[in-house]
Amino acid sequence: MAYLILSDIHGNLEALEAVLADAEGRYDCILCLGDLVGYGADPNAVTEWVREEAAAVVRGNHDRACSGSESLEYFNPHARAAAIWTRRALTPENRQYLTQLQRGPLRIEEPLGQFLLVHGSPVDEDQYLSNMDDGALMEGHLELPATFFGHTHVQGGFRLAPAGIARIRRDRPLTLEDGYHYLINPGAVGQPRDGDPRAAYALYSIEDQTVDYRRVEYDVQSASAKIRAAGLPEVLALRLFEGM
Ligand code: ZN
Repeated sequence: MAYLILSDIHGNLEALEAVLADAEGRYDCILCLGDLVGYGADPNAVTEWVREEAAAVVRGNHDRACSGSESLEYFNPHARAAAIWTRRALTPENRQYLTQLQRGPLRIEEPLGQFLLVHGSPVDEDQYLSNMDDGALMEGHLELPATFFGHTHVQGGFRLAPAGIARIRRDRPLTLEDGYHYLINPGAVGQPRDGDPRAAYALYSIEDQTVDYRRVEYDVQSASAKIRAAGLPEVLALRLFEGM
């Protein structure tokens, strides 16, 4: 079984379509780590696609903020403006779908093994695992060898062992080895923040125990123009070009 693992699509349909074209024929099942909406101009199209296609989804903080009545006080002004715009744009059906999304962690069980899906961390769905210190705090909280997480929009992750923690290189495929716990971030489909503007995703083969970190060019110009035309904050259109 090969999994297409997507996170942080954020209403960016152009990026999602490029990822699907790139990954075509290479996976059996789609998993999503949350933040389907927020920032991008196509929240309905993206939500409808996930509703139809994803086998399992955990909610992200933007899914809660854009669909519910949750307070936006912890959002920065641009994220808040985008959340308010998205609340108005979502159809009732899509809003309802986002409201009932499951909180992580979500355990995926199949005959060959088990792994975990979370948005932020296994401990807290809103926690950022940004650096080695954040990753090291997860020691003792990882019951399964592989946990897939998003939220930071930075592709890569961490490998934990009793001897210490290491950052995972994303420029080559990862082979999971016995004796380690892995925190694996596929990166953001729709708003990368690791300095590479290309859409990010990962393919996970449970037979081979390999993770392939992928990047793909997409039509940033169109995604950005739609954000501007929608009246969303200009910075959200500009940052797509920078991947920051
Ligand atoms: Zn996000």
